[in-house]
This record gives sequence, C-alpha cells and structure tokens, in this order.
Amino acid sequence: MDKIYTGIKKNMLKVNEIYASIQGESSHTGLPCVFIRLTGCNLRCSWCDTAYAFHEGKPLTIEETLEKVETFDLPLVEITGGEPLLQDDVYPLMEALLKKGYRVMLETGGALPINKVPEKVIKILDIKCPGSGEDKNNHLENLQWLSPQDEVKFVLLDRADYEWSRDLLQKISPSTQVLFSPVYDELDLKDLSQWILEDRLAVRLQTQLHKVIWSKDTLGV
Ligand code: SF4
Repeated sequence: MDKIYTGIKKNMLKVNEIYASIQGESSHTGLPCVFIRLTGCNLRCSWCDTAYAFHEGKPLTIEETLEKVETFDLPLVEITGGEPLLQDDVYPLMEALLKKGYRVMLETGGALPINKVPEKVIKILDIKCPGSGEDKNNHLENLQWLSPQDEVKFVLLDRADYEWSRDLLQKISPSTQVLFSPVYDELDLKDLSQWILEDRLAVRLQTQLHKVIWSKDTLGV
C-alpha cells in the first residue's frame, strides 16, 4: 500500500487537484460539482485513467481545502482519488463539508472499509472486476454498510467482466442503485446496452460523461 501521506501532519491532506466540472459518473451525472482529488492509491487497475494521482499533490490543511472549495460556489462536492480513504484526515474533511451544508459524495475503490464514513455522505463504491486485475482486493463486507442513498459501480472491460458482475448482483440488496460503466474506448456502449436488455438487469448504464464533453485525455474536468 502506498505510504503517500507519510510526512503529512495531522489536519493535513495531500491533495492532487481541486476543480469544478460536470459530474460525469453516478446517478448524479450532469450536475455541476466540485471535485477534491486526494493523492495516492492502494490499487493499480489495468485501465486506470488517473495514474497522475498516485503520487503528485501538495499538502493542504482542511481549512485551506474548504477555502478552495468555497471559491467555486457549488452545493455538490465529490471527494475522489486515487483512493481517498487512505488518508486519515479525509474523515474530518467530510464532517467539515457536511457541517458547511454541502452535499458530499465519496468515490472509493472498494478495497478499504467504508464503515467509518459519515452516514450522510453519498458513497459510490467500486467493485473491481477481473479485467481490472484488482478483483482479489474487493472488500465485499462493505456491501453491508451501504445506505439507501449509496451506489455500487462496476467498470467493465469486456463480456467476461459483464458476466462476473451479473453473477455478483445477487449479493447486493435490490434497493441499492447499481451502475454498469464500460471502460472508455474499450467496451462498446451498444454491446453493454444490448447485454443489459437481454438479461433484463435492474442496473443503470452509465458512461463517463466528462469524457464525452471534453476528451478522454483532458485533465481537471
Ligand atoms: S482505484 Fe481508481 S485511482 Fe486507483 S488504480 Fe483503480 S482506477 Fe486508478
């Protein structure tokens, strides 16, 4: 596991970037949102599009992070990574954002426990498929700690990932929103749509809207 936060003092976070964009994933797709991307990840997904967040970043206090978020004047904030739960001070950051009245989302890779995340935070929990090379690290106990507002996301590389994910649906409460998202430029959206329709799956198809709006290589959007 990366020790990216070594040397970061208490009440400090290592932050890769903070920016405003259109929410490109989850059921909140399309909404303007402030993104706080924390540095470091304990996984190495084969199709990762944010490797620049593995190490790069600068230390910010929670207060400095809040000040930057406030400059964007938006009610929705997502904390992402990397893996945001690697940094202990992500918890006081989430509490501080909630206290200020923000709607707070957390995107996590699903390998670390989510049971200490504040109840009001909307968790987008990834479950890593075999195509990512990280399926052995799924912390499936997390499924018992999901709230009704939370969502589970599968990123699918191919048909094998689709079948693996479809089989895993039986472990997920029917009341939980499940997202199926193809790896951008790898799995055809039409193919995935067809499979979902053929199997009548109660999942939500999504694509990474920000990559459609801008381009897959544009950073900070
Ligand atoms: S969890 Fe996210 S940031 Fe980490 S390797 Fe996988 S895709 Fe990249």
